Amino acid sequence: MILVIKNLKKILLYLCVFTVLFVGNAIMSYSVATVSTSTPLPRFSVVIDAGHGGVDSGCVGSLGVYERDINLSIAQKLGSMLNTLGIGVVFTRTNADGLYGTFASGHKMRDMRAREAIIKKANPNLVISIHLNSYTNEQAHGAQVFYKIDNDISQEFGQEMQSLFCEKIEGSRKESMPGDFYILNCTSTPGVLVECGFLSNPDEEAKLVTNEYQEQLAYTIMCGVVGYFGLSNS
Ligand SMILES: [Zn+2]
Repeated sequence: MILVIKNLKKILLYLCVFTVLFVGNAIMSYSVATVSTSTPLPRFSVVIDAGHGGVDSGCVGSLGVYERDINLSIAQKLGSMLNTLGIGVVFTRTNADGLYGTFASGHKMRDMRAREAIIKKANPNLVISIHLNSYTNEQAHGAQVFYKIDNDISQEFGQEMQSLFCEKIEGSRKESMPGDFYILNCTSTPGVLVECGFLSNPDEEAKLVTNEYQEQLAYTIMCGVVGYFGLSNS
């Protein structure tokens, strides 16, 4: 009789373990499957590269404005707009730091290679790098789009975006140009580098620091991206 009770206890124990392991697993796999099917992947994706960062401030305006910081702000505004449209966004950086690691010595190449690795991993449809310009003549002004060299798709995209700048942002430069930049050359993905204005021009610097002007710049680039992916009605 004692043997029967002992065996009964064992059977009950096995039943409990079975219930926890198998029924529990079944519930978990059901909930995991439910979550994964409700998150569709975006149809298009863009890598947005905010130029410079960390010890590399980029150009500096007469008000002491760092290109590094304005680039990041415009990049994040653009990213939010594209996300709203359901376009996937991968940023090369999301804070003031560079991508070169701990040591500043020899930072530029390490920084560029890290950006290249992000682009390769993301495998996007488009690369957009955000920068500001600088020139010895203070009068130089206006946003200008540089497109990936020897790449017809990038050239067409760059020209379209330059037209949008001329239409939407007063004082923009008239022509887009080919740009021999590492960030565009490091990948076969089409891309442009947008010089959003001249920090060396005090009037333009005063505009570039404002939230409103940064929004206008980001919006213009967004319109270009929408056109590129054929998402507009026109
Ligand atoms: Zn720059």
